Amino acid sequence: MSVNYAKFNEIDIESFDAVVVGSGFAGSVVARQLADMADMRVLIIEKRPHIAGNMYDEYDDAGILVHRYGPHIFHANSQRVFNYLRQFSGWLGYQHHVLADWYGTYMPVPFNKNSMEIAFGPEKAARLIQKLVDTYGDERKVTINELREGDDEELAEVADFVYKNVFLYYTQKQWGQTPEEVDPSVTARVPVFVSRDDRYFQDTYQGMPIYGYTRLFEEMLGHDSITVCLNTDATGVFDLEFLDGSEDSKLKSISILGKAFEGPIVYTGPLDELFIGRFGRLPYRSLDFVYETYDEEYRLPCGTVNYTVTEDYTRITEFKHLTGQKGPNTTIMKEYSRPYEDPDRQIPYYAILNDENVAHYERYRALTESLPNFHLIGRLAEYKYYNMDKIVENALDLSRELVAAAKEHQAR
Ligand code: FAD
Ligand code: UDP
Repeated sequence: MSVNYAKFNEIDIESFDAVVVGSGFAGSVVARQLADMADMRVLIIEKRPHIAGNMYDEYDDAGILVHRYGPHIFHANSQRVFNYLRQFSGWLGYQHHVLADWYGTYMPVPFNKNSMEIAFGPEKAARLIQKLVDTYGDERKVTINELREGDDEELAEVADFVYKNVFLYYTQKQWGQTPEEVDPSVTARVPVFVSRDDRYFQDTYQGMPIYGYTRLFEEMLGHDSITVCLNTDATGVFDLEFLDGSEDSKLKSISILGKAFEGPIVYTGPLDELFIGRFGRLPYRSLDFVYETYDEEYRLPCGTVNYTVTEDYTRITEFKHLTGQKGPNTTIMKEYSRPYEDPDRQIPYYAILNDENVAHYERYRALTESLPNFHLIGRLAEYKYYNMDKIVENALDLSRELVAAAKEHQAR
């Protein structure tokens, strides 16, 4: 069935058992699970004019399926997660390949044995590869930080090369910080791989929804018991009541349309926005996307090219490689990373992880601890660098808890 859309000013809040803010994977999976497993009537509040969060895709003017909020490639090791999503879409077995543009020469990323031959020539590369295998083991992933800590002189040359030619400039563009300054988990996402495997991910399940993500979300949210209000910002329709008047006073209740809502409220947006930034805004990086369409079948040799030593954009993605779409023309997208300064105009894409920012987030989170029916989940609401698979997994876990609680309540 199709999605039930409603205008917020026309809904009767009393006819809902649960409210979900945001229709990305975090919110949509929870909404569908509550509807399916506990017969709950769920209201989704979404501030954008469409569902699917950052996974949203659509056909552009040239008829090419493009991702509007950054290239999204599904990859997971969890069978539970993949089986769950398989209910809502067939999948194309796409495997993502990324090349670094190294002064006009393409080199696989993650940096691997094949990249090594391009960088050092076959003879020297053979020796270095042997050393890497002896030191770390074959088919091993080694983070750039781990590689730079080694004490072998020749491997130090490899580490230095990878640091300077793969990580330094890209990381500076993406984060406005050097690789030393970003949280180690960030660069660890793309380790050096002592392998001939040129794929960006090695997960068991990888691919793209056959008709795109938006269609998958339409399928997931197309349920009698789910209603979606688009163009509705939770911060504008939630009335927050606090235990007292102090700055760190915790939440007592959330009223919607004049009445304290007692069912589960699942919030997947940025937490600082909910509290009108009372402790200052949480730091994020944002992105600008620039699309270009060409009358050529393909523009790039693979899904994404990373510009690790030149250009002011970080990467270019060519969607046809990802989606398998065929045709005579193509659309590519350049990503420009920016500081997140204006919530009215920009989207917070990446939490900037460090101790200070996490403590800042925790101060906001503490305000919600007192409200047992309020649940935070998702990349924004948890201030984490999560991929889609982890979001789906967490949403399934939270749903399980909420369904159990609802059933216990219904039994009473
Ligand atoms: P979102 O998808 O951001 O959804 C949150 C929703 O809440 C949005 O629709 C938003 O409009 C809504 N919202 C926020 N505040 C409010 C409010 N106050 N009121 C109403 N609605 C609100 N992951 C992968 O696994 N593979 C990839 O290839 C990949 N590529 C990525 C590329 C980029 C550029 C980025 C930024 C992320 C990428 N990710 C990728 C991560 C992926 O986007 C996230 O894991 C996923 O979007 C998280 O889902 P979510 O539901 O938590 O958040
Ligand atoms: N990175 C890099 N060069 C690359 C690829 C990644 O320096 O060619 C670093 C950079 O800091 C980036 C991080 O590794 O932000 C994580 O990369 P990933 O591709 O996972 O980023 P995402 O797709 O989440 O933007």
